[in-house]
Amino acid sequence: MTPPLINLYGLTRAELGALVAGWELSPVHAARLWKYLYLEGASEFAAMDELPVRLRSRLEAETSLGHLVISRETHSSDGFTRKYLLGLSDEHRIETVLMRYTGRTTACISSQVGCAMGCVFCATGQMGYTRHLTAGEIVAQAVHVDRVLRHTAEDNPALAEAEHSSPHHRHERLRNIVLMGMGEPLHNYDAVMKAVDILCDGAGMGLSAKKITLSTVGVVPGIHRMTDERRQVRLAVSLHGATQAARAALVPAARAWPLDALMEACRRYTVTLDRRIFFEWTLIEGKNDGPDEAHAVGALLKGMQAQVNLIPLNPTSGYTGLPSHTVAAKRFQEILAGYGLPSTVRQRRGIDIGAGCGQLAVAESA
Ligand code: SAH
Ligand code: SF4
Repeated sequence: MTPPLINLYGLTRAELGALVAGWELSPVHAARLWKYLYLEGASEFAAMDELPVRLRSRLEAETSLGHLVISRETHSSDGFTRKYLLGLSDEHRIETVLMRYTGRTTACISSQVGCAMGCVFCATGQMGYTRHLTAGEIVAQAVHVDRVLRHTAEDNPALAEAEHSSPHHRHERLRNIVLMGMGEPLHNYDAVMKAVDILCDGAGMGLSAKKITLSTVGVVPGIHRMTDERRQVRLAVSLHGATQAARAALVPAARAWPLDALMEACRRYTVTLDRRIFFEWTLIEGKNDGPDEAHAVGALLKGMQAQVNLIPLNPTSGYTGLPSHTVAAKRFQEILAGYGLPSTVRQRRGIDIGAGCGQLAVAESA
């Protein structure tokens, strides 16, 4: 039986170096290959014409460029959001979103096919869990978005030329990532952190870990591990309820990791790393958007390095709740401000193409 192809996007620079060294080829070629992968966005081995033929033929025989096949691309009428349905090397598919507003380009990437956490209002939770993504599949989503930006620049070279001077930066580069697509990133800790390390490698994509935000439903052991490993990515924690009972009704994972333990892990993170946490709160009309809830959130987070991101509920087929009115969101913010807690209301983007928070899902049978 032939061994499976090695996805090059799943290798750190050191691992790629070891692979090439194992073939008795020079580290210079490994360094050149890394540039092809991350600085030039090469999409086939044939384009890597500065590599020796012997290396290219081994790469072709034993590795893959981990391509994600675009099954569908949709553009939102807001003009800022694009969603990609991407095929993996098996029969499964995932969704990745590209957002471009206020001068920033952000990729919202997935960490799993589906999700095991079952939050009632989330389309990914409603589809259930299929499998973890590999580090290579996570990295490949960022590379895909970076390639889209490169091609957009090629469509308009004069603009790209005017904006950037270095030959490698003639196009808009991907700078921000949110791990807020399909899946629970801390349920797939090793692959997610390996992907982050690859994307932050200074000789490659060179992203800043501070511009990568990881959102978790509250997997307590994962938060402790991030603290112990002094992980530099920004942390967002989905709260949605300020008491154990209220939270567990919306977020079943709260039964495994109760609110007390979650808050203890969050406090330890902010104190040990001297870094703030973003708490996400999906605003559902009449359910968790009243003054009582706002006061409860205020009391819970008071004194912590915290910021609250309020997300008016986006529609999904499996949940009947409605988003809160603007007035309710404003009142919620005012109450939080009384506890010294800054907050923002997330802008609703990409809703017409199902690219908003919690709307990503793939019909597995389709
Ligand atoms: N699994 C991670 C990250 C993916 S979800 C997590 O749960 O944090 C990203 C954010 O979207 C989370 O805060 C999630 O609670 C929120 N969300 C899920 N469904 C939503 C919906 N229908 N409307 C608005 N926000 C939603
Ligand atoms: Fe999973 Fe996050 Fe959706 Fe909950 S909100 S089901 S944790 S993706």
